[in-house]
Amino acid sequence: MVNAERLKRFFLDLVQIDSHSREEKDVADYIKARLEPLGAVVSMDDAAEKIGGNCGNLLVRVSGSLNNQVEPLLFCAHMDTVVPGKGVRPVEEDGIIRSSGDTILGSDDKSGIAAILEMLHILKENEIPHGELEILFTVAEEIGLFGARNFDTGVLKSKRGYFLDTENVSEIGMAAPAAYRMTYRVFGKEAHAGLAPEKGISAIVLASKAIVNMPLGRIDDETTANIGFIEGGQASNIITPQVTLRGEARSHSDEKLEKQVQLMREAFQDVVNSTSIEVDGKEYKARFEESSSREYKSFYVPESSPTYQLVANAGREIGLDMKKEISGGGSDANIFNERGIESVIVGTGMQDVHTVKEHIKFDDIVNCTNLIVNMIKMHH
Ligand SMILES: [Zn+2]
Repeated sequence: MVNAERLKRFFLDLVQIDSHSREEKDVADYIKARLEPLGAVVSMDDAAEKIGGNCGNLLVRVSGSLNNQVEPLLFCAHMDTVVPGKGVRPVEEDGIIRSSGDTILGSDDKSGIAAILEMLHILKENEIPHGELEILFTVAEEIGLFGARNFDTGVLKSKRGYFLDTENVSEIGMAAPAAYRMTYRVFGKEAHAGLAPEKGISAIVLASKAIVNMPLGRIDDETTANIGFIEGGQASNIITPQVTLRGEARSHSDEKLEKQVQLMREAFQDVVNSTSIEVDGKEYKARFEESSSREYKSFYVPESSPTYQLVANAGREIGLDMKKEISGGGSDANIFNERGIESVIVGTGMQDVHTVKEHIKFDDIVNCTNLIVNMIKMHH
């Protein structure tokens, strides 16, 4: 039922349209030009202004003969890619499509967009009965889920969503962690390292002690934490007055995440609270500042839920060995789950994403398309 030639055209066209985050307009125009002739109603929100991009989130409404008889469903893919993603020249060999080696391919997430475009063409030309479909193409996913964050989910009728944005077509992303990002600034006191070291407090030493005293790495089977950036200092003969650090923590448990962030904070607090010096009768105390923000909440969609079951059953019926997948990172699906639209992540076949080795087996995009078509057929 998949028109392989058409599907491949969609995919190859899409990866050759530049769409770094905040520059998705040409991809949106391409989608619009393919879907309006099918009778879809396409609209764009005002996310572009809010995030300083050239394109908003594109919402596509597709009515079917079962409108108002079956629950509407949401399908979603993001239009942006990571860098280096300009001037992609796709190369196909033995059924695998990759970039020419100097850029990413952009199958993350254009394989999802291509599968959705083909799915809508299949529904139309085969007159497959279906309920209302809401298709959302988001912007700026890769740089912090900015499109999803700025999208008004109140305009959606769907209570369930499917995000085409992971690797294996046979895996259903049903859980993802919550995450925090933190910036710490540690302040000591400047002094000449050779002439008057007793008059200084080294921010580098403070930061080092704090790091040694905090739990990092894999904390437990649900939680990870990292300090991934450290900057400070000017010269070897100066006791460094300030160091900036950036870190993150993730957990599938929101409670464990809060605790982890607190432990990291306390490690800094403890070391600065116990560090002060007296110079010429004046006391100098070490101190630190933190700015942290929760990026998104965790989600968990049980295997027993109809949202999960629809993908699992539709996949099994077309011969795929469907199983659950627990993600280590956040995606647009975190935002939608947080807002009450139960969502799972569907695989498209994309591999080695965010590297110049990114590639995809074309047959996997075909499988993904068959999977979502079958989901819509079974959703009655
Ligand atoms: Zn993605």
